[in-house]
Amino acid sequence: MRVFTLLFFILVLAGCKSTKLLKHNFPTPVDTGDQTISYQEKKTYTIDGLSASNQFDAARMNDFVQLNDSTFRVTILPENEPINKSPHYAFLLSSDKERAIDLELYYGAYKHRYYPKLSYDKKLWTPIDSIAFDTLKAGNIATLRLKLDQRPLYIAAEEIKDCKHTRSWMQQLATKHKLQLSTIGKSKLDRDMLFMDIGSGNKNDKPTIVLMSRAHPPEISGYMAMEAFVEELLRDSPLSNNFRSKYRLMLYPLLNPDGVDLGHWRHNAGGIDLNRDWANYKQAEISTVANHIIREVNNYKNKVIMGIDFHSTQEDVIYTHTDNVKSSITPFKDLWIQAMDDDALQLNPNEEAYDLGKPMTKGWFFLQFGAEGIIYEVGDETDREFLKYKAEVAAREMMKLLVFY
Ligand SMILES: [Zn+2]
Repeated sequence: MRVFTLLFFILVLAGCKSTKLLKHNFPTPVDTGDQTISYQEKKTYTIDGLSASNQFDAARMNDFVQLNDSTFRVTILPENEPINKSPHYAFLLSSDKERAIDLELYYGAYKHRYYPKLSYDKKLWTPIDSIAFDTLKAGNIATLRLKLDQRPLYIAAEEIKDCKHTRSWMQQLATKHKLQLSTIGKSKLDRDMLFMDIGSGNKNDKPTIVLMSRAHPPEISGYMAMEAFVEELLRDSPLSNNFRSKYRLMLYPLLNPDGVDLGHWRHNAGGIDLNRDWANYKQAEISTVANHIIREVNNYKNKVIMGIDFHSTQEDVIYTHTDNVKSSITPFKDLWIQAMDDDALQLNPNEEAYDLGKPMTKGWFFLQFGAEGIIYEVGDETDREFLKYKAEVAAREMMKLLVFY
């Protein structure tokens, strides 16, 4: 009887083949326990008929003062330290009359990163004219020469895309393609963690690709590439339709909703870089997403073959694993990068391979699933139409390679 019981359990276990969420030993561990963050005071400052406001989502402005008749200064500080040198700023200026001013962005101990962009409606953005901004002179103070009229003017590091933007983008896709937008849990400050399956038909047994974005709030160019990539996957074309019928595509476009709406430079509301928490899942956002992936792929018996995480940095670059890391779809990434390079415009993607180090998504996909892990980085100032074109090519070439895999 005992032998039969034992045999039964062995058979049950063998039949399940379920994946457990594992804690991973990365070569360079990072402590991701909560740190204290400081909140910017949300207010509208008015001096000499000129107002500056941070009273909107994704805004960042810590102070506003007048230095002389025509010079004003905005102070921009991070949510906590230590932190990457990526000062994000976003605020609204309103003047009671036409005037020309010099506006200083003061970053304290940090240096300028993002080229200023202007908008009257938060939809259409224009980089500031180069005669009004000297990039070379921008150190920890960057000076903008502005001509103001009575129209309120948004000034931001990158185009403002708050949580509401992403929800409405997903909602539009859901309506157009009959998809299900869901909330899979909450962030530390109770914002929705959004998720959508973007494949078609039955999810059972399909190989699965996971797409992520916005671990780092100001990395808008990477987020824009993610939108274009996803829209290409959802296109009504023989390639995309065929691909979606064969693969499960799990989309998590907003890993750090608190950081996005609080206008953070990099961290979540726990003061942590979420792309360092893929070993122990101490932060609510990563724990929610990692557990959701595991639960879903167990429920539908999926094998995760790749994870792509979209980010921004100084230039376009695709971070991959070194050759000692063989994923379940090796040599996919070499063929993929060559295919992009063979595109008519010879995109010549810059690939940088590095070994497992800190607990980032790239390593996690490999350690957890034996899957390919890619970090798709877009330059902060890469032309917006060009980054979309590149992302569409990247999506098509990925599909072409995998559709017959
Ligand atoms: Zn990043």
